[in-house]
Amino acid sequence: MTPPDTTRTPNFIRTIIEEDLKTNKHGGRVHTRFPPEPNGYLHIGHAKSICLNFGLARDYGGLCNLRFDDTNPSKEEKEYVESIKKDVRWLGFDWEDREFYASDYFGQLYEYALLLIRKGKAYVDDLSADEIRDYRGTLTRPGRESPYRNRPVEENLDLFERMRKGEFGDGSRVLRAKIDMAAPNLNMRDPVMYRILHAHHHRSGDAWCIYPTYDFTHGQSDSIEGITHSICTLEFEDHRPLYDWFIEELGIYHSQQIEFARLNLSYTVMSKRMLLELVEGGYVTGWDDSRMPTISGLRRRGYTPESIRDFCERIGVAKKESMVDIALLEHCLREDLNKRAPRVMAVLRPLKVVLINYPEDKLEELDALNNPEDPGAGTRTVPFSRVLYIEQDDFREDPPKKFYRLAPGREVRLRYAYFIRCVDVVKDQKTGEIRELHCTYDPETRGGDSPDGRKVGATLHWVSAAHSLQAEVRLYDQLFTVQNPTIDEETDFKAYLNPDSLETLTDCRVEPGLKAAAPGSRYQFERLGYFCVDPGDSSPERLVFNRTVTLRDTWAKIQKAGEASSGKAHEEAKGRETMHAGRHAIEPIGEEISIEDFSRIDLRVGIIREASALEGAKKLIRLMVDIGEGRPRQIFAGIGSAYPEPGTLIGRKVIVVANLKPRKMSFGISEGMVLSGGDKERLCITTFDGDPLPGDKVS
Ligand code: ATP
Ligand code: MG
Repeated sequence: MTPPDTTRTPNFIRTIIEEDLKTNKHGGRVHTRFPPEPNGYLHIGHAKSICLNFGLARDYGGLCNLRFDDTNPSKEEKEYVESIKKDVRWLGFDWEDREFYASDYFGQLYEYALLLIRKGKAYVDDLSADEIRDYRGTLTRPGRESPYRNRPVEENLDLFERMRKGEFGDGSRVLRAKIDMAAPNLNMRDPVMYRILHAHHHRSGDAWCIYPTYDFTHGQSDSIEGITHSICTLEFEDHRPLYDWFIEELGIYHSQQIEFARLNLSYTVMSKRMLLELVEGGYVTGWDDSRMPTISGLRRRGYTPESIRDFCERIGVAKKESMVDIALLEHCLREDLNKRAPRVMAVLRPLKVVLINYPEDKLEELDALNNPEDPGAGTRTVPFSRVLYIEQDDFREDPPKKFYRLAPGREVRLRYAYFIRCVDVVKDQKTGEIRELHCTYDPETRGGDSPDGRKVGATLHWVSAAHSLQAEVRLYDQLFTVQNPTIDEETDFKAYLNPDSLETLTDCRVEPGLKAAAPGSRYQFERLGYFCVDPGDSSPERLVFNRTVTLRDTWAKIQKAGEASSGKAHEEAKGRETMHAGRHAIEPIGEEISIEDFSRIDLRVGIIREASALEGAKKLIRLMVDIGEGRPRQIFAGIGSAYPEPGTLIGRKVIVVANLKPRKMSFGISEGMVLSGGDKERLCITTFDGDPLPGDKVS
């Protein structure tokens, strides 16, 4: 056996395993499994489970099985099985020949059921599903015994056999374990083991019309495979006594179940049911849409398996639920891509620049570094000529303070090329739009430095107009507008979908070397972010890039703020799920912004003209607010709990944030925000005591 890998971050599961190895509990074996139900594509939460299970097996010289928990017959299973295998492999793990299916154990499970019936530990119940639920009782009310509970063994054997033969209709009978209807744990109140379901199964076909429940399958599947440590998420903690009961009554090998907290990630949802809803409702283009938290979506977006594994290692495992900031995932990705993504130049929103003193037919090939982080990555050449494109954002006709990029009369550096100075702005006569800039270049500054030591305020990226290639670029933002789209039970999570999560730019220009870029390959577009060639839609004739992640690292900022406020080193927090990520996700520390940033918020005086409650949303009130624009604005404000009678708000003067992007909500478009103060209990709108007019500026 390979010696244990002690370089990994310790956690409570490792502690258990190391203790078991010491005491030779499972004969020195470590055997785990990853048990997906093939009813959807895997997401980043599953990645945590995969890295954990396969990682433990790797680190302790053990084995990890891939087991499909396919007890429920359903349609798409084959597609899902294939996608799951692809994703696990892509993440870098190998189950060798240990690919198992719970459905392969149907025969064995049937035998187990017969054994329990013969022992008087299971019975056929004729109650309907509703009656069973009612008889089960609640946490405060004990259950009642079914009138069929004490059927003789022979009758149970006969009925169960006939259930299997297909003599009865769906739902007419079930097989239940005979445990204890007064047990405090509801799972122990005679749980259902088998139900009748005349349905086709992707593997067993029509061989069965009774199917075992998950609870009667999972523990025994672990046992059959000799799993030593059966690692699952916290919600199964209350099922453990039941699994143990089955194992003991059947007298079979006992795997040890260990529960850990599932991964929750901010600005997304992590339930296959919800993800399926997004796919089926056409809210995304498919399971592998680059905005999805699925492994296939992340792959398409340009994530590397290394960055996902690193992320899973850093979040660690814990016993307590928390939310991890998506900024941490992006941080792991940036760290990885920074090391290996070749740098190239691309212009997303081109602005034409003509160098009026550069010869018309001259072409230079300038040397450019492929990766300043990796000297071994070498150099390439990029063509330079009289007509170039720069980014529209890099020019301001009327530059505000602290804008150091190009402006009339100003000089900047073009990366790897020359200093240029803007001498003229050419506009469309009719629309006044800027059509092109006329600039001069300084031949003395070739390569980017001036012999007289002259300084410039900025270095811009660029491409040569005639040599660059056209490309489509997809820019992504978070799929949801709030950190936790499922926090509020009253509101459908889809109401928080971000209407601006995808922006497609079709007239981008990239340097010519990208012509042969392989699908899926990743680049840093200098100054813009990391991008990857879309594996599905890109071709040499029509290049398509996905923005994987921007360069701006919000995680580094969060971490800095966290360190400053807690005084704890980052290393200490590493490996704990309660680390900064979790805390900040729930109570974000205000990020510092400059006064300039703040002055961009347009605050206006508004008068509430209409206010009404919304059907189906307790917290939201629909306001029509006059801010002196001739028509009132519709604003949905989450102040319902403070104003149970919205009518009292009519006529009140409020502060409106007036220059927000309108936001699509399930009830309509919200055109701003109304400021309020206080916490949940004491919420109230901010208002005026003087007599300002609607539309007046608030400062
Ligand atoms: P979902 O709630 O998304 O449908 P699930 O638990 O039903 O997830 P399974 O296919 O049963 O999905 O999950 C396979 C394994 O992955 C299980 O062991 C489960 O505990 C684990 N898993 C699922 N979601 C997460 C998560 N968010 N974090 C960590 N592990 C997870
Ligand atoms: Mg599950």
